[in-house]
Amino acid sequence: MGNKRVDHIAVAVADLEKALQFYTEQLGVELLEIETVEEQGVKVAKLNVGNTHIELLEPLSEDSPVGRFIAKKGEGLHHICLGVEDIESGIENLKGCGVRLIDETPKIGAGGAKIAFVHPKSTGGVLLELSQPSGDHH
Ligand code: ZN
Repeated sequence: MGNKRVDHIAVAVADLEKALQFYTEQLGVELLEIETVEEQGVKVAKLNVGNTHIELLEPLSEDSPVGRFIAKKGEGLHHICLGVEDIESGIENLKGCGVRLIDETPKIGAGGAKIAFVHPKSTGGVLLELSQPSGDHH
């Protein structure tokens, strides 16, 4: 899968405005953009924390994946994302190793990146996202 880096750490929040008040005003972290990703059922606020990002995820509805997560577990760490260079070959490799994947083919995430989630049962209990950025930026 080539070199990997933490692309972002995602936190599920019930109230994005309130969460942003903490992160931007109180903590002083820079807000880069807010994007609605209909396919994932979330509004995403991307925060600049140096060489990686924190993403705050607010569900668009209660029956979206993040909505169900908050209903079940409350707000909190939702997933860690590793940036990869070739997500298709990465998925094939993991499948070949018997790793449990949530997405066996890539979906389109924030910023047009190709993404796939690996099941927490295979990762030590943390939802893991793989992301291959869209070609036009790093
Ligand atoms: Zn993510």
